[in-house]
Amino acid sequence: MGSERQVDFLLIGGGLASAHCAAELRKRGAQGSILLAGREPEPPYERPPLSKEYLRGEAGREDAYVNPPSWYEENEVELLSGTNVMSLDPAARTAKLQGGEVVSFDKALLGTGAMVNILRVEGAENEGIHYLRAYGNADAIRADAEAAEHVVLIGGSYIGAEVAASLTAKGARCTIVTMEDVALSRTFGEDAGRWFHELLESKGVTVHGGEELEAYEGDGRVTGVVTKSGLAIECDTVIVGAGVRPDAMLAQRAGLEVDDGIVCDAKLESSAAGIYAAGDCCSYESVIHGRRLRVEHWDVAMQQGMHVARNMLGDDADYEVVPYFFSDLADWASLEYVGPASEWDEEIWRGDRESGEFSVWYLKDGRVAGALSVERSEDLAEARRLLADRVDVSAHTAEIADPDSDLSAIGA
Ligand SMILES: Cc1cc2nc3c(=O)[nH]c(=O)nc-3n(C[C@H](O)[C@H](O)[C@H](O)COP(=O)(O)OP(=O)(O)OC[C@H]3O[C@@H](n4cnc5c(N)ncnc54)[C@H](O)[C@@H]3O)c2cc1C
Repeated sequence: MGSERQVDFLLIGGGLASAHCAAELRKRGAQGSILLAGREPEPPYERPPLSKEYLRGEAGREDAYVNPPSWYEENEVELLSGTNVMSLDPAARTAKLQGGEVVSFDKALLGTGAMVNILRVEGAENEGIHYLRAYGNADAIRADAEAAEHVVLIGGSYIGAEVAASLTAKGARCTIVTMEDVALSRTFGEDAGRWFHELLESKGVTVHGGEELEAYEGDGRVTGVVTKSGLAIECDTVIVGAGVRPDAMLAQRAGLEVDDGIVCDAKLESSAAGIYAAGDCCSYESVIHGRRLRVEHWDVAMQQGMHVARNMLGDDADYEVVPYFFSDLADWASLEYVGPASEWDEEIWRGDRESGEFSVWYLKDGRVAGALSVERSEDLAEARRLLADRVDVSAHTAEIADPDSDLSAIGA
């Protein structure tokens, strides 16, 4: 039987959402005790560098820490790294930590993040097959890729595209194998996806679209991949970027409502009063979109973590921030996106695809459902406003298409 103690705020999961929740609680003057328990050995850190600067060896581990390690003590936030929260009892308002300690709490945040989808195909036991979520994964990829003759990326979405770009920039030979015909088309559509696809190819990345992994080859160490259509590619390192799924295991075992993530209302509160969720694990009722939403974006985890802190302190407000995402393909292109558009019936290009400075607007029934920017960040501010306000822009499509027009008057 473990010992027992009481905290005011229990933050479960040592990622971005929990770290920003803790910081916002203190910023807002919360006096109560805060305990942040995370499974990973490091203090909360940013994951985006793992496929970018950190993978290329341009940044160290500490550069990605959300707060310096000393911040937690200075701000009286008890950080328990390397500590799994084993179970949660919403009715008793207690949680059991690895090692047996039972913590009772007043308010709790579930910031348990997401887990990578594992492809369990023949040959998956071979060495040299990687996934990317944590520092240790990035270290192992770096070590393998440095010595590799040929790296194959499975998946043509962000992780596949970013890692291919980073490793190519470091001199590796990379090939992407992706189920979609066009890389990055799942989010951005075929037209914009084609722009990124061709960019990758122009920089030396081979892309095989419309191909699904059938098996890995190798006898101890991976020597190749084979696709369902019979395409065989020799390689000595594989990195899989096949998406993630919300880590809602603790919530599910606790009897909270779980669907695609931990089901929350518009205030980010779960089916148990006083227990909230934020970040990759949170499926919330979006007032802006008029539907349930779960996204895996750095900015969303951060914003939601802070929002939960404010609601824990009594704000009791709906979460109404338009989700924002960014991605870098080495120093070849930076993209930003607001949305997410689940479907659209019109695409408007604003700017010049040849120069690599443009935005693409995704419209549904005359309203902005999403927008992508490549080097035109200023467009996104307008898109975000028009999306949030649900402005009917059908009479303004020519202005949107004109890269020199001022959009601030639309819907103002
Ligand atoms: C390689 C990579 C690159 C990315 N690049 C971008 C990008 O360019 N732009 C962008 O917008 N987003 C990017 N993302 C996504 C972004 O990093 C995530 O959306 C963000 O990290 C989510 O934060 P989180 O706090 O919800 O979850 P996480 O960061 O996943 O943190 C959750 C933590 O909780 C821990 N945990 C789970 N269960 C328990 C438990 N029971 N007890 C204790 N601890 C637990 C997990 O181990 C994990 O450490 C990237 C992600 C990766 C992996």
